[in-house]
Amino acid sequence: MEDSFKHKGMRKRLVEALRNKGIKDENVLEAIGLVPRQFFFPKDFWDNAYDDKAFPIGSGQTISQPYTVACQTQLLDIKPGDVILEIGTGSGYQAAILAQLGAKVFTIERIEALFKSTSQLFSKLKVPIHCFLGDGTIGLPSKGPFDGIVVTAGGNSLAEQLKVQLKPGGKLVVPMGDRSIQKMVLIKKVVENKYERTEHGEFKFVPLLGKYGWET
Ligand code: SAM
Repeated sequence: MEDSFKHKGMRKRLVEALRNKGIKDENVLEAIGLVPRQFFFPKDFWDNAYDDKAFPIGSGQTISQPYTVACQTQLLDIKPGDVILEIGTGSGYQAAILAQLGAKVFTIERIEALFKSTSQLFSKLKVPIHCFLGDGTIGLPSKGPFDGIVVTAGGNSLAEQLKVQLKPGGKLVVPMGDRSIQKMVLIKKVVENKYERTEHGEFKFVPLLGKYGWET
């Protein structure tokens, strides 16, 4: 897959647009400037990859809007070597941004077709991201505890089962609300059994489906 001069130029403009919309973390902006977002799109739509918009990826799902990816990643405040769990692999773009920042990434997807196509894409791109097929609402306790957990679909419950999979100092970023609109919630595990919760704007995600999410 080739990252053309045209797409590099479009990516540079996207980074500037995100900066103008308030993304401040230079490491996050740099990662977005380095990962070719078109690789996570169907080939016929590569020229749509640098609009700051969500886009359909099949199976009724979407690749998240770049601004949303930037906000969620900024809230995680990743350091190289951090162990991060993403719930909702989708296209793989968010996971690739986390890996670009130096994180060790585990990601879970519940739709088999997306799990297969995105796992193959990661192999092709030679990015060492560990993909799992299953219900991410229960987390991935066998690979934890995590420095960060990011949920990329909109949930409706308190995410207690995910909080406990954080290391002390770890962060959970989860959109929570109803099916049409969610607040971006950041939960920090201060020390064992002590958490701080803050909210960071409104977003619109596809629903998080599963045991601790919406009914399928
Ligand atoms: N991070 C993705 C990306 O960069 O393309 C965003 C994908 S989309 C907004 C959300 C994804 O979450 C969908 O692929 C959907 O199938 C998945 N999903 C929803 N509920 C899930 C669950 N319980 N476990 C794992 N994945 C889930």
